[in-house]
Amino acid sequence: MSGKTHRVQVGEITCLVLHEGSMAGRGLLQDAFPTAPADEIDAVCQNFGQGDKRPESHMNALFIESGGIRILVDTGMGEVAGPNFGFIPAALQSEGISAGDIDIVFITHFHGDHFNGLLNEDGAPRYPNSRPITTQVEWDHWTDEAVLQAMNAEHAAGLRMVVNAFKDRFSFLNPGDTLAPGVTLVDMSGHSPGHTGLLIESNGEHLLDVVDLLHILPQFTYPHWHFVFDSDGSLAERSRKRMLARAADENLLTLFYHLPFPGLGHITRTDGGAFAFQPV
Ligand SMILES: [Zn+2]
Repeated sequence: MSGKTHRVQVGEITCLVLHEGSMAGRGLLQDAFPTAPADEIDAVCQNFGQGDKRPESHMNALFIESGGIRILVDTGMGEVAGPNFGFIPAALQSEGISAGDIDIVFITHFHGDHFNGLLNEDGAPRYPNSRPITTQVEWDHWTDEAVLQAMNAEHAAGLRMVVNAFKDRFSFLNPGDTLAPGVTLVDMSGHSPGHTGLLIESNGEHLLDVVDLLHILPQFTYPHWHFVFDSDGSLAERSRKRMLARAADENLLTLFYHLPFPGLGHITRTDGGAFAFQPV
């Protein structure tokens, strides 16, 4: 399953979904979504094939080439996550793109499954010619010493390695700013303080990358479910409902980092403020 890609041409912009990896679930569904009512958890287990109540784990990063600029959006876990993950470099290579060809690495948020792959196993930058970019809000939060002291030790160690390796090299953009021609940052905060997606548009065609706006398919039916790793579950829920509604109303092809590969599809509104997903 290594090295899988899925090509999407958005007008003049070339996009490749890059399969970082997939793994059978380990934790219980209720533990991953602690605010979900038990009857809804049971309904999901009966209706969505989550028989053992353990959600699968998938990761889909994105490569964008626009105006001659080659962008990698998130870097995955890297090899440290074991044999099921770390396939982004192989996916790029299968398209003839080497790590040295990447001009910009954009980090949507500083959770390990999105930034750990910035460094290779030796602790050196994996994309040596790239400029790392994130949002100011996200950087300021995760480099705050008080935050680092209070958080999970493994996550904090990964952050400290990245901060040390890239201290003066990161640059910062804000929602509404342009990353490359036709590629605009979109605020989707809540999962983390500066969690940011991208709207890619060219010649009237669109791709919306919503990254971690939701984590499993049942959250289309139950968009009020908060994920255990949301930094602000209520804000994440408002962002989720707002962006899913926009994607539905504007019929935008949408990419989800954590849905089964390639994590692409269209969204429709259903009864009671819920949504449905039609994968490509
Ligand atoms: Zn994630």
